[in-house]
Amino acid sequence: MTTWVERHAAALMDTYGPPRRVLVRGEGCWLWDDQGRRYLDLLAGIAVSSLGHGHPALVEAVCRQLATLDHVSNFFATPPQVELAERLLGLLGFEDDGRVFLCNSGTEALEAAFKLARRTGRPRIVAAAGGFHGRSMGALALTGKPSIREPFEPLPAGVEHVPYGDIAALETAVDGTCAAVVLEPVQGEGGVHPAPPGYLEAARTVTSRHGALLVLDEVQTGIGRTGEWFAFQRHGILPDVVTLAKGLGGGFPVGACAARGPAAGLLGRGAHGSTFGGNPVASAAALAVLAIVEREGLPARAHRTGHLVANSVAGLAHPLVAEVRGAGLLLGIALRLPVAGQVAAAALDTGFVVNDVGVDVVRLAPPLVLTEEQAESFLAALPGILDAATSRSDGARP
Ligand code: PLP
Repeated sequence: MTTWVERHAAALMDTYGPPRRVLVRGEGCWLWDDQGRRYLDLLAGIAVSSLGHGHPALVEAVCRQLATLDHVSNFFATPPQVELAERLLGLLGFEDDGRVFLCNSGTEALEAAFKLARRTGRPRIVAAAGGFHGRSMGALALTGKPSIREPFEPLPAGVEHVPYGDIAALETAVDGTCAAVVLEPVQGEGGVHPAPPGYLEAARTVTSRHGALLVLDEVQTGIGRTGEWFAFQRHGILPDVVTLAKGLGGGFPVGACAARGPAAGLLGRGAHGSTFGGNPVASAAALAVLAIVEREGLPARAHRTGHLVANSVAGLAHPLVAEVRGAGLLLGIALRLPVAGQVAAAALDTGFVVNDVGVDVVRLAPPLVLTEEQAESFLAALPGILDAATSRSDGARP
């Protein structure tokens, strides 16, 4: 009998490598595979399912909207689309002079930001080495990972990468020819590196000085994950453009590129578009997510649970663990050996979903509704998982 994994291999392009499990059901922070095994989801579909799986209010909102009005084109307005844009502007602090472009993914949000930056008429964009912004040609041009860029060159021109966290490099790169600086407040795919103190503030200052846009990519950090609605709010700055996706839809594909001030008018009529962008069902899903995140105080909860997890992992003083970094519930456990893949595999065998970002960092990005008890069950299992990973790596010792 052919298995799902064999059928997957035969039917899908091999872009992701072999699937680690076949998952068939989710409820709250739990996932089940096709063998009936249960896993605590500490990845949330890569920082997406912030409400856990099957949150009744999200299910209800999606079903109700699907039954009311499923899709129209952008020749028409729909109440959920308008309400979502208004709500995002309010949360971002862009309510006075902001506008939103709605789309379906993080990559698309970055494409919109890229095109918006081009419309300034300035030729250069500055982004960060190690940054990740998506894999379409424009988003890839912004992405600072040579290994995934090089096979697709030539990419759209004009993007330069500076070392992340280096204020002097940013000050040198930004001048009157620079349209925008594009940064993640915490580099997620790059290995969970939070911006060093003062970095985003300096980025704000230097871009303002030269009339360049500050674009913050909050696709991974936004909607409560780092302990605030948006990570930039911790830094007391206001960017010109913010990109969102992932947690915005809580599992439903939704993205957004929000801009304020003159930048909000740069993508004018006919400059950009999307068939599905602002789809009423997707917009209703995002509105439900925002309502639940607010009602349940999830940013503050992410802050608390994140602290508990980070302190406890550091307190284990396990020889494999070099440091724990991140913000809220976006955490990276940095290892002293390149065995992050083995740790993720051992965690899965023990009933926990985590992932390796790079060879020596394990990422935790669980649902924001994770309970302390659930977090503690992982913390109790972690030493055994780390030991198992160390022995899987041919007995190498840190
Ligand atoms: N920007 C950041 C910061 C991301 O982490 C990602 C995905 O990991 C993207 C953009 C691309 O988003 P998507 O995969 O939804 O297209």
